Amino acid sequence: MNRLFNAPRAAVELAGTHTPARRTISCVIPCFNEGDNLNALLSSLEETLWATHLDWEIIVVDDGSTDDTATVAEAWCQLTGFRCISLSRNFGKEAALTAGLQAACGDAVVLLDGDLQHSPALIADMLARWQEGAEVVYTVRQTRDDEMTFKRLGTHLFYKIVNASQRFELPEDAGDFRLMDRRVVDALLSLPERTRFMKGLYAWVGFRAVALPYTPCPRARGRSSFGALRLVNFAIDGLTSFTNWPLRMVSVVGLLLAVPAFAYGVYLVLEHLVIGNPVSGWTTIVVSLMFFIGIQMISTGIVGEYVARIFEEVKGRPLYVVRKVLGRGLDIQQP
Ligand code: UDP
Ligand code: MG
Repeated sequence: MNRLFNAPRAAVELAGTHTPARRTISCVIPCFNEGDNLNALLSSLEETLWATHLDWEIIVVDDGSTDDTATVAEAWCQLTGFRCISLSRNFGKEAALTAGLQAACGDAVVLLDGDLQHSPALIADMLARWQEGAEVVYTVRQTRDDEMTFKRLGTHLFYKIVNASQRFELPEDAGDFRLMDRRVVDALLSLPERTRFMKGLYAWVGFRAVALPYTPCPRARGRSSFGALRLVNFAIDGLTSFTNWPLRMVSVVGLLLAVPAFAYGVYLVLEHLVIGNPVSGWTTIVVSLMFFIGIQMISTGIVGEYVARIFEEVKGRPLYVVRKVLGRGLDIQQP
């Protein structure tokens, strides 16, 4: 975006500094019921972006909010540089991020949450690393003290499992708050899968990445959308998209149980035929039966999770549906 477009708001001393080759930056904010936080975030972000002396745009993706998020975002869209993509319902953060990435036109794209947990003040540092040659600048939480023990341990276990069988590593405390070069964004968008576990996709595409430590601020207002159940679902999405390890475990466990069970069966038959011992122990039989049925059901469940993912992919539905797009950003500046 040419800053002179925003004539009344543009810093007059910048007149004449624009060159066609100047690099551009898009900020993408997925929002679900962030009406109370959006004004504060957008004004602080706008201030930060003016200070970068780059052309910029801010894309708010309203992910089917039921509060006044859309109204607040639409008011900002009166100003050049602000765009709002309203989805037809709540599709989830990963879909909202993808919608924003698809719309973004900048040479670099910054993703940040709409609840003020990701401070725009860090964007200057991100841009500095990008200009030094980094293709991805991702933020790493310095502490997880703000999270409950259950969430901390669960997260740790999740990353251990996913990273156990990868050629690439998912950094444990890295989040969505990050800057990505255009090449990285294009690579991400070229991945066709529908189960978009973004933290895994960022790592999968690779590129030169630099970590930036930060301490997330507490959520300004409202509640997190990621309760325990949604986090478990999210982790299952991550596991099934990025590792076949659970499927292999099913085979290994099956083998470990079947071989001794078969050997024990042979032993009982021989004992009966040679020594003439009557077959006894109904309790043992019932207990072992329940044990094996349990293992079998868990195994079917694990296989089922993968089948469900295949089903999702095969249906080929779009990731999200757009209700309307408002505002003018870098899109109208570029051929
Ligand atoms: N979000 C979204 N769609 C959803 C859930 C969340 O776009 O279905 C957005 C939300 O508005 C916020 C970001 O994703 O900007 C992170 O969500 P949240 O703060 O609830 O998660 P947490 O910070 O607890 O991980
Ligand atoms: Mg949050």
